[in-house]
Amino acid sequence: MRYYSTRNKNKMVSSMEAIIKGIAEDGGLFIPENIPALPEISKMLDLDYKNLAKLILGLYFDDYPEADLERAVEGAYGEKFQGDEPVKIQSRGGAHFLELFHGPTLAFKDMALTVLPFLMSSALQSKGIKEEVVILTATSGDTGKAALEGFRDVPGVNVVVFYPKDGVSSMQRLQMITQRGDNTHVVAIEGNFDDAQKGVKDIFGDVEYNSMLKERGYLLSSANSINIGRLVPQVVYYVYAYLKLLKEKKIDRNQEVNIVVPTGNFGNILAAYYAKEMGLPVDKLICASNENKILTDFFETGVYDKDRKLLLTSSPSMDILVSSNLERFLFHISGKDDSAISKMMEQLSEEGSFNWNDFSNEEVYGEYADEKEVAQSIGQLYDNEGYLMDPHTAVAYAVYKKYLKETGDKKPVILASTASPFKFPDKVIASIGKPVPEDIFKGMKIISDAMEVEIPPQVAELKELPTLHGKVCNKEEMKEVVLHLLQGGETDD
Ligand SMILES: *Cc1c(COP(=O)(O)O)cnc(C)c1O
Repeated sequence: MRYYSTRNKNKMVSSMEAIIKGIAEDGGLFIPENIPALPEISKMLDLDYKNLAKLILGLYFDDYPEADLERAVEGAYGEKFQGDEPVKIQSRGGAHFLELFHGPTLAFKDMALTVLPFLMSSALQSKGIKEEVVILTATSGDTGKAALEGFRDVPGVNVVVFYPKDGVSSMQRLQMITQRGDNTHVVAIEGNFDDAQKGVKDIFGDVEYNSMLKERGYLLSSANSINIGRLVPQVVYYVYAYLKLLKEKKIDRNQEVNIVVPTGNFGNILAAYYAKEMGLPVDKLICASNENKILTDFFETGVYDKDRKLLLTSSPSMDILVSSNLERFLFHISGKDDSAISKMMEQLSEEGSFNWNDFSNEEVYGEYADEKEVAQSIGQLYDNEGYLMDPHTAVAYAVYKKYLKETGDKKPVILASTASPFKFPDKVIASIGKPVPEDIFKGMKIISDAMEVEIPPQVAELKELPTLHGKVCNKEEMKEVVLHLLQGGETDD
C-alpha cells in the first residue's frame, strides 16, 4: 500500500515515510492509494480489540513487519487503559455510547496516540533515520496531553506542544503544565487554536527552517490528526463497536447503523467514513458541531467560510474553524481530484473561504448544538438514566436528537463518546443543576458522587504535581521558541 498527497497523486511514499513526515511537502495530507476492504464480518467476530487492531493496521501499514504491529498494539492497548478492553459500550437513552476515554489522558485521542509512538519508532529505525525527531503539535486541549503522554521518554523523540492560552479547559491546562518526561515541552500561545495550528503548519512548510533544523540534527514530524498514523487506529473502534453490538444481539447481521461524532478537526468522523468505505454496514455519518458550526454550514451550502469569529465553548476540543481532515474527505468524494482539492485549499488559505459548486453528498449529515442544548442534554440524560456525558459527547447527543426528530431515521446509532466527564467537570456540574465549586478537585468529587465511580488516578494525582511548563509566547515567535527549547532552553522562563 502506498500513500500520496491529497494535492498531488503523482508522488508516492510508503506508510512508514508517511508516518514519519506527518504532512506532505505540498501541504496536502497523505491518503492510501486505495481503501482496503475488511474481511467478512463472521471472520472478525472472535477477535479481541488488540487482534482486530493488528488486522486493520496490517491492511494499511503493510510495510511494517508483523512483529512490529504486534508490539505496537500490545504496548498500546494493555494496562494503559482501564478495563478488560480499551473501549466500552453503554447503551443509554436510545444510543450506543462508544466510550473512548478510558486511556491515560481520559480523551479519545489516546486511542491513536498510544499506538503512534510505536509506529514512529519502528519507522525511524527501519529507515535508519539519524536525526532526533521533533513531534510538533498544536492542540485544542486533548491532543497535546495525549501526545505528551504517548511520546514521553521515547528515545530519539522530542515533543513540543503549543496550546491556546485561553482556549483550553482548566483541567486540560493542568494536565499539560504538569507533564513529566525529559523530552516534553509545553508552550501557551497568545491566540486561539487556529493560530496555533497555522503556526505549526507554517513551520512544517518552511523549507529553510527545516533544513536549518536538519543541520542541527532534528527532523520535524506531527502527532496531529493529519498524521495517517492517527487515522488508521481510529478506524478500529468503529469496527469493534459494530462487532460487539452484533455479538450482544443489539443489532442484526448486516444491519446498517448510523454513527454520530462530535467533530472538530474532522479526524474522528473521517475514521468512521473509512470504516464505512472498508465495508462496515454504516449508513449516515452525523457530524456534530458546537457553536463553531462551520462544518454544519458547509454541509448545508457547499461554502466553507472561515471568516468568522472563533467562539470559546464548553467543548474546547471542538473550537476549531479550519478542520484539517475535511480535505481528505473532499478528496475522496471528489473522485480523487487532486487539482481541484489543491485549488480549494489555496483559496481557503488566501481568501479565507472556498465554494464547492453544486456540492452534495449522501454520507454526511451536519448539524450543531448550542451551549443551552448541551446543558439540557447532559441534565436530561442524567435525570432519566443516571448517565453523565462530557460536553463534547453531549454536543453529539443533542445533535442526534435533532437528527431523529428531523428524519425519523430509527437505525441503531453508535455515538462516539470522546471524553470523560471528569475532564470537564464545570459544565457537567452546572448542567445537572449543582453549584460549581471554585476548586476543580472539589468539582471532581461531585462528578465522582454523581457517577458513583472513583476519581480516575490520572486526574486525582494532578493535585500533587508541580508545574513544570509555564512558557507563553506570541504566535510570531513559535519558530524561535522551538529552536530555543531544542537547544536545552528552559520551558519555564
Ligand atoms: C479532539 C476531540 C474532538 C474532536 O475530534 P476531531 O477528530 O478533531 O474531529 C471531540 N471531542 C474531544 C473530547 C476531543 O478531544
